[in-house]
Amino acid sequence: MFHSALNQPNRFLALGDGEFFSKVAPTPLENPHLAHFNQRLADDFNLNQKDFSNSAFTDYLAGKKPLPEQFQPFAMAYSGHQFGSFNPGLGDGRAISLCEFKDKHQQSWEFQLKGSGPTPYSRGFDGRAVLRSVIREYLGSEAIWALGIPTSRALCIVASDTPVKREKIENGAMMIRVSPSHIRFGSFERFYGQGQHPQVRALAEHCIEQHFPHLVDESDRFGLWFDEVVRTTAQMVAHWQAVGFCHGVMNTDNFSILGITFDYGPFGFMERYDPGHVCNHSDHEGRYAFDQQPRMAFWNCLCLGQALTPLIDRDRLEQGLTLFEPKLQAHYLKLLRAKLGLEQDLKQDSNLITALLALLAGENLDYTRFFRGLSNLEKDKPANHWIYQQANAQTVDEWLDQYRQRLADEDSDCRRRQLLMKQHNPKYVLRNYLAQTAIEKAEAGDYTEIEQLLTLLHSPFDEHPTLEQYAQLAPDSACGLSVSCSS
Ligand code: AMP
Ligand code: MG
Repeated sequence: MFHSALNQPNRFLALGDGEFFSKVAPTPLENPHLAHFNQRLADDFNLNQKDFSNSAFTDYLAGKKPLPEQFQPFAMAYSGHQFGSFNPGLGDGRAISLCEFKDKHQQSWEFQLKGSGPTPYSRGFDGRAVLRSVIREYLGSEAIWALGIPTSRALCIVASDTPVKREKIENGAMMIRVSPSHIRFGSFERFYGQGQHPQVRALAEHCIEQHFPHLVDESDRFGLWFDEVVRTTAQMVAHWQAVGFCHGVMNTDNFSILGITFDYGPFGFMERYDPGHVCNHSDHEGRYAFDQQPRMAFWNCLCLGQALTPLIDRDRLEQGLTLFEPKLQAHYLKLLRAKLGLEQDLKQDSNLITALLALLAGENLDYTRFFRGLSNLEKDKPANHWIYQQANAQTVDEWLDQYRQRLADEDSDCRRRQLLMKQHNPKYVLRNYLAQTAIEKAEAGDYTEIEQLLTLLHSPFDEHPTLEQYAQLAPDSACGLSVSCSS
């Protein structure tokens, strides 16, 4: 088991038991077995599949052996605004942090089990995750990583025979997810909500020391730290919008203080472009609809700011909040320009992008396939069928004329543009039906499709000629697959 390579205690433990976290051991699973191992991530830690597939690890998860003493498992306490309402009593209800581990670059990452059984924060729920939801988080987070968006990572999936009751009985599973920190906006809200201002300060000091060390000696370190959180959050959401990622549950307990994407629930990648798309079928009001994501991320920053009022005065917090919108806009524009292969920064670009989004929405075009098709556009030749899909050709051509004119304005070199665009427009995204196929096979005991998909999603910008079918639209039979919060 990989404990022999563990080289430091988890720094979060220094905050002290009881208030910030509770020590708790995982609850054994029946017949745990490794369903998938992400060797690509493991390489960063010089870890190997055999460190996990040997019986020490699975015996431990099966409750046959005690956890080696290098591990000090705990569940973190936090609160959060869930769908707009404050819920004071949250926390890791089904996740347990195992250890911190340094990667090859000496950066520390927290290894966390998800689906490992009840904790003091489970609120009567079972502390489990089902195989279906573990596979989705596993593939989704690795896909987001490969698209260049900061995110938690996924190291392995452990399947089991433990029955877990959801809408029906499913098999319980667990994953190890990996993140530099699992501190959330809601972590600060917890102590602010309870009037525990010294704890708000202690957590902020910890966060700055461990994750923002360049700010430690600044007299305005709390203000500067808040600025950074606002900026990285805006940047993360701008990137979601650019790739068409819908998070689904942007509650403040699912928002990382490091501006990384995490807590993947009923997320989805935009297929046919619909700005009002709601990927979480339990989100009846559409609070987290695709086009609401920037607004909701800002709202979360407001909640965080409120929780930091014991440390930062209101004017300074407001100053920090004003950074959100310009950062979001600038980053989004930068990403969209790259997707369009534009190298110069011209005033009319916003209009071109707005017109494009209206075209995609009006014609119900597949977001990923449109941009990838556009990457192949030749200078004086008709566009290929990937661009038109089933759209009204005249409507598409009207926008294409505008686009060709814009390319001419910067004297764009066709080959160079195509190359640039293919580095920014993925061919492969985690379409719901693809995840569903991997899930159905895995539920029948065949984990090969997870490997197949992961290989593609790890290199989404490359051509994989023998795997063209993975870039296709969902078959009609798979349209309208629903993804619920139940996981
Ligand atoms: P989520 O929306 O998945 O981030 O979960 C919100 C809260 O509910 C967090 O505190 C989770 O730890 C907790 N939770 C979700 N599912 C379970 C479960 N099956 N057992 C215990 N706690 C859970
Ligand atoms: Mg959560």
